[in-house]
Amino acid sequence: MARFDGKVALVTGAASGIGREIAIAFAREGGHAVIADLNMAAAQATADEIGKSGPAALAVAMDVTDEAQVQRGVDQAAQKFGRIDVLVSNAGIQIIKPVHELPLGDWKKLLSIHLDGAFLTTRACLKYMYQAKAGAIVYIGSVHSKEASKLKAPYVTAKHGLIGLCKVVAKEGAEYNVRANVVCPGYVRTPLVDRQIPEQARTLGITEEQVIKDVMLRDTVDGVFTTTDDVAQAVLHFAGFPTNALTGQSMVVSHGWFMQ
Ligand code: NAD
Repeated sequence: MARFDGKVALVTGAASGIGREIAIAFAREGGHAVIADLNMAAAQATADEIGKSGPAALAVAMDVTDEAQVQRGVDQAAQKFGRIDVLVSNAGIQIIKPVHELPLGDWKKLLSIHLDGAFLTTRACLKYMYQAKAGAIVYIGSVHSKEASKLKAPYVTAKHGLIGLCKVVAKEGAEYNVRANVVCPGYVRTPLVDRQIPEQARTLGITEEQVIKDVMLRDTVDGVFTTTDDVAQAVLHFAGFPTNALTGQSMVVSHGWFMQ
């Protein structure tokens, strides 16, 4: 019997990158993945690919900042599969600008996707988890949940904020057997990071190779990127952990960048 047989995980931002890999890894271990994303065409493609060789997956159109869309998507998933065991709050964007040039609109947009998105999906899923008296929520933080970098004020702020939300959900969820934890990846080569490399090179006045070597991987132990699979394995560890011994915690997965 596989670890997640018959279980249901809703993963936001799962049409691409890290979220997509988490959904695939969950399905590989027997679970039904719900691919919630702004990009419905790519979400459907991911769900179709998973469904070809694994358990049925469902794509739902969801802007995580939209209260009604979140509620609808979560309800749709619960109706289709009868339960929500795991929420992975993963949808996110990056905006690269120094604080003194950062428009208020960019600040609000990033905080809304990362923080409103985490809150709204948590609230909607907790309803089902509390009824079932079981569940696991995993937030995708970042090394930037614990550490700062230039040009990333809203991102660093939002990622630190997720740790606070996680700790409160861990305390409130305990009596319902619902756990909350944060996985904090280092740099992973996804579209989100591939877009940043030329942007950072321009803003910092250095080459793209220097951005990779001297900015992104400088503080790792071995100069190696973290992979989507590394992150997915860490998420599944939290999602599958059977007791409240592991809740309210955050784990850095980063080739040693930022040691606690
Ligand atoms: P990505 O750009 O490959 O994928 C992000 C997905 O989120 C996309 O499918 C996009 O459509 C979706 N999305 C964006 N806004 C949305 C919204 N409002 N509602 C629903 N879906 C939305 O990015 P990724 O690198 O896979 O990042 C996933 C998460 O991992 C993010 O929270 C990011 O901050 C975090 N993270 C990434 C890295 C990295 O190096 N790539 C490192 C640490 C943390």
